[in-house]
Amino acid sequence: MLDIADFTRARRHMVANQIEGRGIRDPAVLTAMRAVPREAFLRKGLEEFAYRDSPLPIGEGQTISQPFVVALMIEAAQVKPGDSVLEVGAGSGYAAAILSRIAGKVHGIERHPALVEQAQRRLAGLGYDNVRLRAGDGTRGWPEAAPFDAIIVSARGPSVPQALKDQLAIGGRLVMPVGDENAGQSLVKITRRSATDFATQDDLAAVRFVPLIGEEAWVRPDTERPRPGRPTPSAAR
Ligand code: SAM
Repeated sequence: MLDIADFTRARRHMVANQIEGRGIRDPAVLTAMRAVPREAFLRKGLEEFAYRDSPLPIGEGQTISQPFVVALMIEAAQVKPGDSVLEVGAGSGYAAAILSRIAGKVHGIERHPALVEQAQRRLAGLGYDNVRLRAGDGTRGWPEAAPFDAIIVSARGPSVPQALKDQLAIGGRLVMPVGDENAGQSLVKITRRSATDFATQDDLAAVRFVPLIGEEAWVRPDTERPRPGRPTPSAAR
């Protein structure tokens, strides 16, 4: 049975090897990753695997992301103190906890209400009180809380939902995996330069994510067809 000192050691080791060792340099990201106990976001019995270099099951057929991918996305989104951030696909609440230690406030949307309840309990228990979570379709964003300085989409879609682009502040950054299961997925970054001008960087990294299911995404978990009439990935970028 591991104790707090074991987890702290394993976490430092994880940050040194998996995060810094792979080129993440943002000091705020490194500090947050050293502080947030990933074991607290796992189901009972899985805690001992908390600092493995992999995603892990969290229930409802979903996963907590690999720590390196969480760090990579947050660094790419250039999240800064005071920023207002939206995470779509909050899952276990782990990435929201990392974001909450860097940004001013964090809004997170998760499709599965049971995961939202669990994540809310965990975040409150750890004292991360600048995070608000709600259940729903994150492809529509959170219009009442917009605009956001950064948006992180933690599930892969066929394209970047227009509603999320519309909810970026001028100068805001969005990072999201785009692509399908078979043809491959890559991380895409969009920066809003003005009301109508969006700069796109494709292929920040090759990744593997669970699908984004919703109004502006895949229809159902078992299909890769975007909804009819929605833009194709290339048209949307
Ligand atoms: N960042 C999360 C964490 O730290 O645990 C992991 C996210 S998991 C890889 C992706 C999540 O996106 C899943 O929990 C899934 O239910 C959720 N999801 C998929 N489509 C969604 C949508 N349209 N709106 C909100 N959440 C969605």
